[in-house]
Amino acid sequence: MARLGGWTGYRVGKWRHELRRQQRWLVIELEPTPGAQRQCTGCGQAVVAIHDWTMRRIRELPVFGAPVELHVPRLRLACQGCGPRLEQLDWLDPHARVTRRLADSVARLCAVTSVLHAARWHGIDWKTAKAIDWRALERDLGPVDLEGVRRIAMDEFAIQKGHRYATVVVDVERKRVLWVGRGRSRVEIRPFFERLGPARCARIEAVAMDMNTAFDLEVRQHCPNARVVYDLFHVVAKYGREVIGRVRVDAANQLRHDKPARRVVKRAHWLLLRNPRRLKEAEHIRLDEVLAANRPLMTAYVMKEQLKALWNAPTAWAWRAAWKQWLRHAQESGIPALTHFAQCLKPYWRGILSRVRWPLHTGLLEGINNKIKVIKRIAYGYRDDAYFFLKIRAAFPGVG
Ligand SMILES: [Zn+2]
Repeated sequence: MARLGGWTGYRVGKWRHELRRQQRWLVIELEPTPGAQRQCTGCGQAVVAIHDWTMRRIRELPVFGAPVELHVPRLRLACQGCGPRLEQLDWLDPHARVTRRLADSVARLCAVTSVLHAARWHGIDWKTAKAIDWRALERDLGPVDLEGVRRIAMDEFAIQKGHRYATVVVDVERKRVLWVGRGRSRVEIRPFFERLGPARCARIEAVAMDMNTAFDLEVRQHCPNARVVYDLFHVVAKYGREVIGRVRVDAANQLRHDKPARRVVKRAHWLLLRNPRRLKEAEHIRLDEVLAANRPLMTAYVMKEQLKALWNAPTAWAWRAAWKQWLRHAQESGIPALTHFAQCLKPYWRGILSRVRWPLHTGLLEGINNKIKVIKRIAYGYRDDAYFFLKIRAAFPGVG
């Protein structure tokens, strides 16, 4: 058992089963192996003399389904250099209540499930599980490396159902989270640029973002050489809400005396918002029927596809032609919601054109947005920003 346990410096004294809350526990009493090589936690030097010890109860990985508790006389060595100091052990961290092996298992579980579930699985307190996960994340992630960052994306997200916000900054090239901070105002995102420092700020070439934020002003203030690139994902989402949503509601209202036709239009909402390439054949037919029956809806839908195409223009020249055409179509559409949307979009043309020169893959922002939602759902109930932000960093640790 001692060899399986690998409790260096200790051997198994007695062991027994104990019934606790109708569960069979395995309690193992360890005792210091006489004459073992021991190391001081202070200086790392080999020390022979033992100063004193305190009995500790330490949780270990379960054996054959039974929870395991170790009784460990934790030694303080009489180090000549440091005085009384804890013994350095490779299987138990100073002041830890669980072995390193159990901690590793908890941290691995926390990567795929909630802290609460990980804690329940091992029968430990959720605060203990969270502390373990926190330490493991900090150890694995290390400090953020800000060297060589050239292209970034910034995005905001809600922490609590639209009440509190946070901002995430991502290195687009290496697909890693550089910074997460509370808030979304200029002042609240400033610490990121301050940490980056003037020299590294000057090396930023492009910043992708949603156009409805205060980020662009702050970027211009700190990063003299950066181009702001508006993110397709946000523009299309806004178009879906403000144009397609509006046109669909109007269409349904016009059909209020024709209930079956109205239902068809109402149900078509998600068909209209989805990527047409992902639709099944039957869904395509339904979509075509809805569009044929409603001209404004058809227009709004086609204009959405053309709007998306602006982000894929091969050259600035092709972009300009497509942009002018899109604006003209929007103005001539006779659809107030579309005309209004186009008017609002117009001043942002530089940031859309920038996409041609700086093809930042903004699918990354969409991916991070979705991942944050998942993390939020899993971690529900733990209102701890720092831990939440650490989990976001861990989800995008980077490549290369
Ligand atoms: Zn020492």
